[in-house]
This record gives sequence, C-alpha cells and structure tokens, in this order.
Amino acid sequence: MQWPLIEDEDRKAVLDALDGARLVSDTDGVNPVSDLEHEWARRFGFAQCVAVSNGTAALSLALSALGVGPGDEVIVPALSFIATGLAPVHQMAVPVFADIDPVTFNIDPDDIERRITPRTRAIIPVHLHGAPADMDRIMAIARKHDLVVVEDAAQAPGATHRGRPVGGIGDAGSFSLQVSKNIPTCGEGGLLVTGSGELAEAMRRGRQFGEVIEAGRDRDYVSYGLGWNHKMNALQAAFTSAQLARFDGYEERRQRNVTDFLARLAELPGLRVPTALPDTTHVWHILRFRFDPVAFGLDGVGPQALRSALRRLLRAEGVPMSQYQLMPLPDQKVFVDRLGFGSGHPWAVTGAPGTVRGEDYPVTREVIADSLTLQKRHLNPGAGELLSLYADAFEKVWANRDMVATLAKAAS
Ligand SMILES: *Cc1c(COP(=O)(O)O)cnc(C)c1O
Repeated sequence: MQWPLIEDEDRKAVLDALDGARLVSDTDGVNPVSDLEHEWARRFGFAQCVAVSNGTAALSLALSALGVGPGDEVIVPALSFIATGLAPVHQMAVPVFADIDPVTFNIDPDDIERRITPRTRAIIPVHLHGAPADMDRIMAIARKHDLVVVEDAAQAPGATHRGRPVGGIGDAGSFSLQVSKNIPTCGEGGLLVTGSGELAEAMRRGRQFGEVIEAGRDRDYVSYGLGWNHKMNALQAAFTSAQLARFDGYEERRQRNVTDFLARLAELPGLRVPTALPDTTHVWHILRFRFDPVAFGLDGVGPQALRSALRRLLRAEGVPMSQYQLMPLPDQKVFVDRLGFGSGHPWAVTGAPGTVRGEDYPVTREVIADSLTLQKRHLNPGAGELLSLYADAFEKVWANRDMVATLAKAAS
C-alpha cells in the first residue's frame, strides 16, 4: 500500500509551479507557497500560517519567535520523535522530559507540573500518533505558570480537541509535511500556525534571514534580527496543496478503515488497541498496540518476550509490525552525553542539572517495552481490504496461542 498516493493532479500542480517561475516564498506577491499557507489556514481554521522547510525547523522557529532562548527550560514528552527534544537545544534551551499517559501516549499534565522550575519557559505537547494531547489541562498549567505552548502537530493534521483543530490551541503549532506524514509533500516541508499576526511576522522574518518581504516592494536585503534560511520551495508547496484538496475524502475513508480494523482487534484478549478519547478526533498517523501477558493468558512471561513472539508471528503472516522509538527521548545519546554546542551547551549555560532531574519515565518505559506499531500502510485510503487481511492474521495468531506461548517462553 503505497504512501503517499501520487495522482495526476499532483504531477500537474508540480509542473505548473515549475512553469510559474515563482519558485520560492520570497518572490513578490502570490506564489504556490503563499497559496498553500492560505489553503491550510482556511481548511483547518487557523488565523495565520507560515510555510517553512521542515517540521524540525518549524519547532525551532516557533520557540525563537516566542523568545525562548539560552537558559530556558522547555518541557517535552519523553515519548516522541527526536526532533521534539532537539528543537529547544537548537535555541540553546534545555529540554526537560515529562512522562506520558498510558492510554493516549501523550504528555502527562501531572508530570509537567512536577517538572516546572523558575527556569521553565515553554511546553511542547506532541499530538503523538495523531491523538490530541490533553490541551485543556496543558493550557491551564501554562496560564498558571506564565509559560508559552508550542504544539507539535507533526503527526496530527486534521485532529481536533473539543472541536478545535490541534496546532491552533497553543501560542503556536507546527506541522511536518515530510513524505511519511498524513498530509505529505514530495520531500520535506513544514508549516507553522498561530493566532497572532505579530508572531507570524516574527516567524516570516526568521525563515528569511531576518528580512521583511512586502508585496509591491523590492527586496532590500535589510535584516531586522536573527534569521535562518528555512524557506519552502514552490514545487513542494504545490504538491501539498494538491494533496490537501483530497484530504477530506482520504480522511473519511481512513477513519472508516481504521475504526473497522480496530473494532475487530479489540475482541482479542491481551491486545490493547489505540482509542480516540471522547470529544477528540484521532487521525491515526501511527497505530500503537500494547500487549498484556496476563490478559493474554501468559502469566509469568514478560511483556518484551510476548512482544517478541507476536512480532515474529505477525510478520510471518505479512503484518509489518515494528517499533516506533526504541528508548525514551532522554535516553538518546545527544541528551545523555549532552552533545549540544561547544562544551556541553545549552546545559552548561544554565549550570542546571537539566534533564538529570527526576530522570524516571516509568510509563514511557512500559509502553516502549510492551507495544508494537503499524505505520504508513493504513494511510492509503484504499487500505480497507489490506487491514481486513491484517485482522485475519491477528486472529490466526491469537487462535494459535500455544505457539505464541512456546515462542514467548523461549524469548524470556
Ligand atoms: C516528523 C516529526 C517531526 C519533524 O518533522 P520533519 O519535517 O521531519 O523535520 C517533529 N515532531 C514529530 C512528532 C514528528 O513526527
């Protein structure tokens, strides 16, 4: 099941952009990049949208535009893609990791509160796997402690929390258009959204060397502050606009395919399927399944042994189960060995214990040990039949629990 799906509309959009001679976002007036920004804002209901080179740059730029810098601490979840933890370091701020919720796999608001210090400036909740984080509680904590919130919505375009689109609830939100994401480009891309015009201007300057580009005025090459080159090109923007035009149709079919699939798997003992919390829309970027040896009928076998047996048998049946994140983010070498800038910056800047404080992520560790994920295949809107074959394979494996038991015992 191919992803992304590349159709004639996408090819035409890219060729039109190529012929349009407005290849980057700093060309005067309307261009494919500004078109994508308007379409994205309109489709999801964001006030401001700024296109950038990728989702990692988007996170860094959001933190920078919000004034997060050296010596600040930024609270991020212990389970995410590495970019969430790197973005604060790129601003010379210290990432402080918080544990996750065992059901949504998103940052645990209670643990955020425990990790707040006088240095804390920001929280980056991640809507992991397409499930909205608990934004009510996170925003309440942020207001109480005067913190800014950058939503990492890389995996969740289209997800909603109490009817509001994720990305648009915090001070800023970031998306990734990387080919593997739910709304892809033909390579790398990212988008920033915010309700603040002033913040959007700061993000535009940041992506463009600190310059201000105005319609109808020649570029003057004057830089008004620290900037980078985080621009998106027109071909990638045009490709994503064509994908966005088909998103609603795709999403409707995916919702049906995935909910049918999960409803079948929910019948199997010892298998915990992902769920959407009430009043939220989950966009199922990644499907994470947890395995419980006791409920499976394998008392005395560790979760990793059961996981290893199930992985082998399901893969033998053609279900490409895999791990997403082999360790909590704080265990990644860059954070353990403080491989930032120079001699241990940003950690040395603060002189603070940084990520070492309260270095314990029991829920993250449990989830990583007892779960497997399904990625990408189910994003194709035509995957309904394939998912039904996957469900057959799960049922076959569960019908042969003696074999699972033998393999699990051998693994433990
Ligand atoms: C993909 C991803 C990013 C980074 O996006 P890129 O476009 O690959 O730089 C950041 N956070 C999360 C949660 C992601 O899944």
